[in-house]
Amino acid sequence: MNWIIRDARLFLPEGEREGDAWIVNGRWAAFGQIPSCAHGLAVQAKGAYLLPGLIDTHVHFREPGLTHKGNFYTESRAAVAGGVTTVFDMPNTYPPTTTLERWEAKLQAIMGRSWANFGLYFGATADNLSDIRRLDPHRVPGVKVFLAASTGELLLDNEEIVRRILRESPVRLLFHSEREVIVQAARAKWESHSWEEVPDLHTKARPSEACIESTRWLLQEAHQGTVPFHILHVTTAEEVGMLAERPPTVSAETCPVYLQWSAEDFSTYRNLLKCNPSLKYHRDREALWQGLMAGILDTVGTDHAPHLLEEKKLPYPQAPSGVPSLGFLLPWLWQLGQQRGVPLQFWLEKMVYAPARLWRLRDRGPLCEGYWADAVLFHPTGQTHVPEEHSPLHYGKCRWSPLNGAVLPGAISHVWVNGELSFAHGRFQGAPAGRPVELG
Ligand SMILES: [Zn+2]
Repeated sequence: MNWIIRDARLFLPEGEREGDAWIVNGRWAAFGQIPSCAHGLAVQAKGAYLLPGLIDTHVHFREPGLTHKGNFYTESRAAVAGGVTTVFDMPNTYPPTTTLERWEAKLQAIMGRSWANFGLYFGATADNLSDIRRLDPHRVPGVKVFLAASTGELLLDNEEIVRRILRESPVRLLFHSEREVIVQAARAKWESHSWEEVPDLHTKARPSEACIESTRWLLQEAHQGTVPFHILHVTTAEEVGMLAERPPTVSAETCPVYLQWSAEDFSTYRNLLKCNPSLKYHRDREALWQGLMAGILDTVGTDHAPHLLEEKKLPYPQAPSGVPSLGFLLPWLWQLGQQRGVPLQFWLEKMVYAPARLWRLRDRGPLCEGYWADAVLFHPTGQTHVPEEHSPLHYGKCRWSPLNGAVLPGAISHVWVNGELSFAHGRFQGAPAGRPVELG
């Protein structure tokens, strides 16, 4: 199916302008003045923004083994509904994606079932360096290293093994950067307490020092020469300060959850905002914003991590860590940006251009002729209503969000994935059109 999108505000990499866009055989054929012989189904888009689909390089779609929380079909729907057309999925599943066979089996199980394009990370263990060495850099976006335990069994806190992976991996590494011994000591001290006694309980149980010491060590290693790596979900002001001096092989991410909320908000949300690393304090949140604006933090990833509401309502020690963040992402970012006076192009840099550059996505990312047509039609004067908990109007499987009941500015009317109209006016269209990404 070919498409003509008429009279939109086109968010091209060189800047914005009014015009038409033409999709032929899944790819962009022209922008601006399109040929008079152009043919295809037409969408009138006057007043709307045509944006490249967002690239979320940090999601947990829970497949295989945790599919009561979400699966690739349900969570990729949440992605597309939120304006995300490409996701990179984490390996901390059951079993974890820590052998080449499991990686291949996961890919085959997802083919034809993902509404978004996808890349699958590999997980590092103490004894799978021989598999890591054989990863294909054109297909595998990276190896995730959990320096502290979070959801799942993946933990690698042996510095000598991490050093070897830092020297020998053929693909980018991604670090969950917390120091396990500091986390364990703090948990032993605080985990028996309750939210009633300690309003910032989770921040005490997973303190800033765990992040700071871990990131300090990673940066020391990086200065001695390593393969490129990405530090995930940065949460502290001190890490932003250290990252300002990073070598060019190091990049970093933060997440919308840490930009919207801080530990002061635990008194309202408690376990709903329990995630790892923990939310830090108001001063840290301000530093994250400054780090993003200064280009010290390169990307925004959602860390979309669905858990059932019943699981989140367990007592603090048993409640799982993670927050679903995808379903209403673009209007949420638009609102966060408006409060800070940052334009939509800011989010496109953090969630399209920077990921496309860092991972060298082939033919994907910005609105460019010849690239795959992954795009979102966004109406800046519309509104998006986030449903209440358990509502079937939630897009992911777990049916809640910390934004429950919110009214967000702006609304998505259409999403194209590989030139296929996949979402229009709140309904999914056709069949899942996501493909595995190609890199390099
Ligand atoms: Zn994560």
